[in-house]
Amino acid sequence: MYSHRDREGGPLDRKRISDVLDKHLEKSPSSTSRGLNSKDKERSSVPSTSTGKSQLDHRSASLSKAKYSDEESETDSEESDVSGSDGDDTSWISWFCNLRGNEFFCEVDDEYIQDDFNLCGLTSQVPYYDYALDLILDVESSHGDMFTEEQNELVESAAEMLYGLIHVRYILTSKGMSAMLEKYKSYDFGRCPRVYCCGQPCLPVGQSDIPRSSTVKIYCPKCEDIYYPRSKYQGNMDGAYFGTTFPHLFLMTYGHLKPQKPTQNYTPRVFGFKIHKP
Ligand SMILES: [Zn+2]
Repeated sequence: MYSHRDREGGPLDRKRISDVLDKHLEKSPSSTSRGLNSKDKERSSVPSTSTGKSQLDHRSASLSKAKYSDEESETDSEESDVSGSDGDDTSWISWFCNLRGNEFFCEVDDEYIQDDFNLCGLTSQVPYYDYALDLILDVESSHGDMFTEEQNELVESAAEMLYGLIHVRYILTSKGMSAMLEKYKSYDFGRCPRVYCCGQPCLPVGQSDIPRSSTVKIYCPKCEDIYYPRSKYQGNMDGAYFGTTFPHLFLMTYGHLKPQKPTQNYTPRVFGFKIHKP
């Protein structure tokens, strides 16, 4: 049987899922029957039993594709590992935000998501919108097991995309920004790799606001440049889930966090002499 575990690495999977999503976007999502309930099933199964574990693994694998290639871990934190211990009280949002590679996401308030006004325009951008939204909000579907495994996988991918598109809006609100402030304070977005920035904490930024244009980068407020995230898992994340505006609005909002420009610059030397530029 086809197994999620056979797939390796993040970028290819994301690409593949995106392709599948693209294909499905062309079809009518409404033609599928409503019946998403996989998460509830997995939750109700006891993780200690082998069945429960494999279901849990399935769920982990389908969203956290990188989980099974741990040996090349570049992340600083271990908390992103999915363990079997996440009990019934874990919301989809906290579960999702704690997946490896999703460390840049803050947890969006349920209230924000429940307000239709905040989601305006997303229906047309995300396939399986209703199911994806139910999944994000832990709404139990009464329509049972009518989805195939592939459809469930698509809904989970759609939920990931929907969450990202909600997230990019949320982090521009005062609540979202303060959630991101907490993450910034704990260096969740990493530090600037430039030596003369002296470990300056960075902020996530997108190079485009259009989904699937480019992956997320980190912005250093000190040298005002952007870099690839240190972790390849984070590097697979869509930049549109953070947007082009966030770090700059953030630093305008929290002006006291804007650091001084770097005082030192690197000077290339040959045998101790500065290189003469023509
Ligand atoms: Zn820097």
